[in-house]
Amino acid sequence: MKATEVDFTLNDGNKIPAVGLGTAFPRENQDLVTDCIITALKSGIRHIDTAWYYGSEPMIGVALQKAFTEGIVKREDIFITTKVWPGRHDDALGSLNDSLEFLQLDYVDLFLQHWPLCFIKDTFTVDERFDPLDTWKEIIEIKKTTKKVKSIGVSNYSIRSLERLFKETDVIPAVNQVELHPRLPQLELVEFCRDHGILMEAFSPLGSGGAPLLKIPLVNELAEKYKATATDILISFHVCKGTVVLPRTQNLERLKQGWEFVKISNEDLAKLNEYGIANHYRYIAAEFGINLGFPDWNDSVDYHTGV
Ligand code: NDP
Repeated sequence: MKATEVDFTLNDGNKIPAVGLGTAFPRENQDLVTDCIITALKSGIRHIDTAWYYGSEPMIGVALQKAFTEGIVKREDIFITTKVWPGRHDDALGSLNDSLEFLQLDYVDLFLQHWPLCFIKDTFTVDERFDPLDTWKEIIEIKKTTKKVKSIGVSNYSIRSLERLFKETDVIPAVNQVELHPRLPQLELVEFCRDHGILMEAFSPLGSGGAPLLKIPLVNELAEKYKATATDILISFHVCKGTVVLPRTQNLERLKQGWEFVKISNEDLAKLNEYGIANHYRYIAAEFGINLGFPDWNDSVDYHTGV
């Protein structure tokens, strides 16, 4: 069975495919995006994770139109996520409208607050005058008053940020999309979200650019044991835990091959978690995230500008 065939249910009753294709493609490779999305849809990938910030939405929109026109998939059979960037913290609706226009869609299945932060427009500088919870409140309002989003959620929220959200707003996010993989299992956050009915989504499941996690010896031992690929193990690690996973590839052969679902035993899942506790590493360690209250954030050594 392919991992892309598995579905989970969100706390609002909507279904979500367990595997979504990540689309934070390198800016220089954007011309490959349309082909990549068409190939993905033909291969049975039913969930696409994008964001206004990634710059890939116009090419994804072209691919979706082509897929609908050629009968490759129907709109209702696929799941599209987009996000509002902190630089547009006070204009979630404007950002969503732009995304819908780029994607050539009337609605998205999931709309996320990308980071619990407010930036000065076109910078990565946090603007302390604004409250990130106001963006979440606007997202709640969009869900209540329009038909442009089916489900709403957050991304990069720590326990501390979620506790504040619970105290000050009355809608529990359907998902929390954060970095998760065998070097960053974030067990406390995962348990906290599960206890509050929030589905976890794992970004950078391969360790981001260059897929460094494919080299972990334990992952390769498990691949051999389960007669699967190391990528299948890294994807199934999440699906087995009930977490959505968002791998990115622009390699058409990999997209055609897809990802096999591997039923990893609880004992082996625990070994992967233990590996992460001993070999902790955060790949998407945006400097601006340091004050968000992730207990392990300060150990981060590899700074990206954030995607
Ligand atoms: P991933 O962890 O998915 O890794 C992508 C890299 O893995 C690419 O270099 C890709 O290269 C490579 N790769 C994929 N499959 C293989 C394979 N079988 N063998 C060798 N290399 C492989 O990276 P991302 O950081 O992009 O995370 C995934 C998605 O998560 C993003 O695209 C985005 O949608 C989301 N995200 C969300 C964030 C947020 O703040 N909410 C932050 C970061 C990511 P190739 O293309 O050549 O296959």
